[in-house]
Amino acid sequence: MKQLIEAIKSGNLSTFSSPAVKVYASSFTQVGSISLLLVRTEAGKKLIAVGEGDLYNQLNGEVVDGGKVAPLSHENRLTLNQFLPYTAPQAFGTQVATMGLGDRLGIAGPGHIQTIRGKDIRPVLAQQSIRELALTGRTYEDVLDAAAYAVFQEGYKDGYGADGDHLKKEEDIKYALRLGFTMLTLDCSENINNTIESLSEAEIAAQYEQLPARLRNHYENRYLETAANVPGATLYYTRQALQKDVLIYDAAINFMEAIFRKYIATLDRAVDFEISIDETATPTSPEAHYLVANELHDRGVSIFSMAPRFCGEFQKGIDYIGDITQFELELASHAAIAVHFEYKLSIHSGSDKFSVFPLIGQYTNGLFHIKTAGTNWLEAVRVVAKVNPSLYRRMHQYALEHFAEATAYYHVTTDIGAIVPLAESTDAGLPDYMDENNARQLLHITYGLLLQAKNADGSKQFADEFFQTLEEQEDTFAEGLRYHIGRHLELLGK
Ligand SMILES: [Zn+2]
Repeated sequence: MKQLIEAIKSGNLSTFSSPAVKVYASSFTQVGSISLLLVRTEAGKKLIAVGEGDLYNQLNGEVVDGGKVAPLSHENRLTLNQFLPYTAPQAFGTQVATMGLGDRLGIAGPGHIQTIRGKDIRPVLAQQSIRELALTGRTYEDVLDAAAYAVFQEGYKDGYGADGDHLKKEEDIKYALRLGFTMLTLDCSENINNTIESLSEAEIAAQYEQLPARLRNHYENRYLETAANVPGATLYYTRQALQKDVLIYDAAINFMEAIFRKYIATLDRAVDFEISIDETATPTSPEAHYLVANELHDRGVSIFSMAPRFCGEFQKGIDYIGDITQFELELASHAAIAVHFEYKLSIHSGSDKFSVFPLIGQYTNGLFHIKTAGTNWLEAVRVVAKVNPSLYRRMHQYALEHFAEATAYYHVTTDIGAIVPLAESTDAGLPDYMDENNARQLLHITYGLLLQAKNADGSKQFADEFFQTLEEQEDTFAEGLRYHIGRHLELLGK
């Protein structure tokens, strides 16, 4: 340690080399007379501080050879945020493209940053839903800590966001905001009436008639008697379609407004407020999108982005399924509506939608928010398949046995029978599973079960060995992410 401390003091890291310590040179930074460096020792990643002053004193750690060796703890992250503002999350507003890069493992941040650095798009590195927290046994503190340390490790100073993703409950909204999350994705699915879609026209009309006359008049005046004027969007309301949209979305619009007034408008800092209406039984028509947006606008609810459910299917971890011509047609209207109301169109389950990325880049003029989450987990699994075939085989087998359980959380059309049996694959061929849609979905949706699986003695069945493997292969993992997420950016025009 003495040699390392000397090297940090001198500011010349190249004078130090040791097989037992990996130095993250990009992290090297000075705050006043204090120098900071992130390293990995046999005991894991550590923050090393050298010098004198408040930052040094506030870091919790052990004094060794005249420097402080500090763990990557939650408390130390808060201290870093205080002295190095770029390590704290920020809101971005609507004038720059953003990409949600949900990291369920807490180790994908460096690769994500390397991919996005220098490009005309900003990363939302911390992005998890409550469901993901439950499935991985993590907290929002863990998620934010991992993102902040990744930013520090890479010396990335262009800013990153933190998204409380798909939040439905006020207690979760409060939790995320209290921790300093800078983006809030309000999931309105519990206030969207999903029973309407399956009703007959007569049943819809009957339900609609039960709404207060004042409400019906409001909607009819605005959408049937006045033509919507949104340049670039094709919008045409029929009486039946309007009745349906009102029944589906009216309560959700009230919910959006209430949350905005209570939590967003009253906040003393900027928050990127996203409305998610993607979890509905039917695709969001441009007319429904406009209706929701227009009502919000009139009530003074300003938003950062809106996530409609597009036509076709955006399943996790695989390319777009559906009619691309129709997708393009509707996308043009969705994008025009977003431009009209001055927010960004948000694309959920956006990983691996290679066939529609160029259209998304084109119609949004490069101003969009796109979310990816599980694709970095699949890249991690690909690393395991390459370097630890025995672990991969055990995980794959377990995933097959527990696939049905996982489908309770995720909608996929996986054909398990189409996956090449493990016994027929050579070790060298294992990474190929990550190029096949059915196997991708199999491993994609079982992440929570795999990470939480326990042996009879209570120890983790896969997680410890998995993280150990990824730690040893940190650079390979980052390289995989640069390639895979890099392809996303390229096709999106970034
Ligand atoms: Zn969504």
